[in-house]
Amino acid sequence: MNISVIIPLFNEEESLRELFEWIKRVMTEHNLTYEVIFVNDGSTDHSWQVIEQLRDENPEVVRGIKFRRNYGKSPALYCGFAKAAGDVVITMDADLQDSPNEIPELYRMIKEDGYDLVSGYKMNRSKGDPLSKTIPTKLFNATARAVSGIHNLHDFNCGLKAYRKDVVKNIEVYGEMHRYIPFLAKNAGFTKIGEKRVHHQARKFGKSKFMGWNRFVNGYLDLLTLWFLNNFGLKPMHVFGFIGSLMFLLGFIAILVVGGTKLYHLHSGQSYPLVTNNPYFYIALTMMILGTQLFVAGFLGELVSRNAPERNNYQIEKEF
Ligand code: UDP
Ligand code: MG
Repeated sequence: MNISVIIPLFNEEESLRELFEWIKRVMTEHNLTYEVIFVNDGSTDHSWQVIEQLRDENPEVVRGIKFRRNYGKSPALYCGFAKAAGDVVITMDADLQDSPNEIPELYRMIKEDGYDLVSGYKMNRSKGDPLSKTIPTKLFNATARAVSGIHNLHDFNCGLKAYRKDVVKNIEVYGEMHRYIPFLAKNAGFTKIGEKRVHHQARKFGKSKFMGWNRFVNGYLDLLTLWFLNNFGLKPMHVFGFIGSLMFLLGFIAILVVGGTKLYHLHSGQSYPLVTNNPYFYIALTMMILGTQLFVAGFLGELVSRNAPERNNYQIEKEF
């Protein structure tokens, strides 16, 4: 099979049929073999009934996964990825904002140009989305680029992406990490990451499922987590132990200064200044306590990671 199209959806009953017919048309025109995997993320409308109808009409291409409740876009993608059987896996949003006409070219870029992952880059965005969404998105992408080191991506969060099958079988999208799939892929060793400008339309039915500010707070925290996991996840002692030891050392030097000053005054017969009047005393105190704490945090981290079930999950590209 050439292509698996994965569509995570949450209350999108109005668009599903139109979207499916469009995908079908494009696939038939280009002679591509395909499957469409609808992942119903706990919709409370009639989305699932629509999917079942589509399945009855097109039993050989329509697949469905139905969550009992709403888990979020990332878990939906995760389960879709696990089920996908096509050589190239394409994800798209269910709201008709992403155009199925892009599929053949995305497929070609993976198959012929050898990309591991191609991310959509939404053009004519301003028409579809409000400013309150586009400006924070720019900020978000700039940070994501800087942290992930993937400098050629303008639009991390585009729902339309294409992957070589290996990629989706070897990454774990959880929480709200769908925004950082290129980063996850890169960390797993898939480095040929490209971008394609794609048409983007205003939402036709319903409204966006991601609104409000917590999307950015959570987004940034997730980015921090990924950065940390990637850099120190398997060796927490290297970061905490280092900072901890450094602080302890500085504290120790400060203690020497405090002790030295006291001894000097004692020796030279001057009046004894109180140790607590010496600013170095407080520096020493803080540094040594913080240093010990950080060191212990690093050590605990090591103990935890020794027991993590995925500690030896290394990416093996080929095996004989
Ligand atoms: N979605 C989902 N689970 C959720 C929220 C959203 O599966 O909890 C789906 C949604 O149905 C759509 C896609 O994720 O197919 C993108 O959502 P939306 O279009 O609302 O996001 P936006 O385009 O505003 O970023
Ligand atoms: Mg949308």
